[in-house]
Amino acid sequence: GSARSSATCSLASSRDSSTCTVPYRVVMLGGSGVGKSSLVQQFMTSEYLHAYDLSLDDECGEKSVCVLLDGEESELTFVDLPASDTTPVNEGQPEPHAYCVVYSQSDLSSFRKAEDELQRLWTSGCVGSKAVILVANKTDLVRSRTVTAEEGKAAATSYDCKFIETSVAINHNVDELLVGILTQIRLKLQDPER
Ligand code: GDP
Ligand code: MG
Repeated sequence: GSARSSATCSLASSRDSSTCTVPYRVVMLGGSGVGKSSLVQQFMTSEYLHAYDLSLDDECGEKSVCVLLDGEESELTFVDLPASDTTPVNEGQPEPHAYCVVYSQSDLSSFRKAEDELQRLWTSGCVGSKAVILVANKTDLVRSRTVTAEEGKAAATSYDCKFIETSVAINHNVDELLVGILTQIRLKLQDPER
């Protein structure tokens, strides 16, 4: 329930003023069916990062988690819009700190869509100041792979963002992605041109 979540969070913030006060917002982008919601769901239970779910029950498309990395707790709020064909509207919302652009390596059209999203982020000047990570999900589907890791890496390199291959189905690199998102956010906050 919400009462328990906020109590947990204020407890954390009373230990150290920098924890769980300003949540980092991470916007999930990409085609439908690529595994965005599955990834976020998996992040909520990361034992590796001692994650605990801070989400309120009825929040539409937003999930919050508190994680511990390098001795420091951070709250991450994942914005996972159900109809991701539309560009997320930021009006009235705090600026995102990170974008996670997801495609399925067994779905070429989802890769093209991810490239379009990267292009859009690049054009809007987001890539320099924010964490942007290109995620090739569903690596377990080896036989139906239609996008190679090299193509994914090349796209990430050309838009100056990070690249990772994941599989929610076999829990491959999901913790690593969560670590990568938080690490990139912290680096960009220290040095936006990095
Ligand atoms: P979204 O539309 O991007 O939010 O995609 P979902 O998270 O709803 O996932 C769409 C479907 O893909 C679901 O049936 C998931 O179980 C499945 N899925 C998600 N990740 C993986 C994965 O890594 N491997 C496989 N084989 N299936 C996955
Ligand atoms: Mg979804």
